[in-house]
Amino acid sequence: MSLVSPFPHTGGPAGAPISFEIYPPRPGVPLDRLKETISALAAADPRFISVTFGAGGSIGGRSLEVLRHILDTTDVEPLAHITCVGNTYGGASALIREFLDAGIRSFLALRGDPPAGVDPADVYLGDLESAAQLVQLIDRVQAERTPYAEEGVLPGAVRVARREDVQIAVAAFPNGHPRSRHAHDDIDTLLAKQAAGAMFAISQLFFHADQYLGFVDRARAAGVTIPILPGIMPITSPQRLKRVLELTEEKLPSDLAIALDVEPTPEGQREIGIAYAADLARNVLAGGAPGVHLYAFNNHDMVLAVLREAGILTTV
Ligand code: FAD
Repeated sequence: MSLVSPFPHTGGPAGAPISFEIYPPRPGVPLDRLKETISALAAADPRFISVTFGAGGSIGGRSLEVLRHILDTTDVEPLAHITCVGNTYGGASALIREFLDAGIRSFLALRGDPPAGVDPADVYLGDLESAAQLVQLIDRVQAERTPYAEEGVLPGAVRVARREDVQIAVAAFPNGHPRSRHAHDDIDTLLAKQAAGAMFAISQLFFHADQYLGFVDRARAAGVTIPILPGIMPITSPQRLKRVLELTEEKLPSDLAIALDVEPTPEGQREIGIAYAADLARNVLAGGAPGVHLYAFNNHDMVLAVLREAGILTTV
């Protein structure tokens, strides 16, 4: 089953497809709190829960521990982020195989970034130059692992069946990747990822619905046909806004920044952030988004409140 419908969600926000992103705890920090979050997020019946991948991880590591927990304890599809920067073909293939052997069948293929503060000219950036190459590698490793499958026809008789497919998503940047040279770069890169076999895209966070909807229009005009899920992050304090802008290099959303700055209480700021994200979710769905993907920051309360306020969740 596809994790994302190729069609726009129609008929109002109620019941729109949802998904979440979480990240593995730091080394040494127990999983207990995240397990509670995963269970609360799973109760909202998302299409998938994605788990980020820290650059420099030797091999699957804590991401895999979290993905395994989702696989073992919920009915939700776990989706593994994988990055290729700094890795050899052999290293990336071993990593992919480790995830596949653990039962993971859905991936977000990413180029990743060189370590912070390091000049890319000074480090080995790896054998794989782009996310598109990683998409092809995931497909190839799965094909080599299970060249074909057998299915029973009659007792004692089997026939060759289609091998079990993997679902591969990629990233998209409605406001442009910070290092893109031209607005076309981001669409061209997405087209290349689609040509490599990507089945859907998940967008970087953005703050106004027209940024996402305009990007989807430009992508469609250029020939991108895969669904593009809007990535939405509730921002509930000025400190979080500052940190997120540092990490993503997105432009300051002055309306949200001012609203958070003039509100003196944390409770009030929380309400502003939730209302802002809920409004964004309603508007992208009204504009034809196939669902909404929420950056949960390992906190279920916030994203579930956004979904309730947006009218998407009516039961949890
Ligand atoms: P690509 O598709 O290869 O490139 C994307 C765009 O960036 C293209 O337009 C390309 O031209 C341009 N570009 C990229 N690098 C350069 C460069 N050096 N010079 C010029 N142009 C460049 N990172 C992690 O480490 N772990 C994660 O789990 C993770 N999850 C993410 C989830 C989502 C939904 C998103 C949107 C991003 C995530 N990232 C993560 C960040 C991502 O790895 C970086 O944004 C990375 O720089 C680009 O990855 P990509 O797969 O989009 O690259």
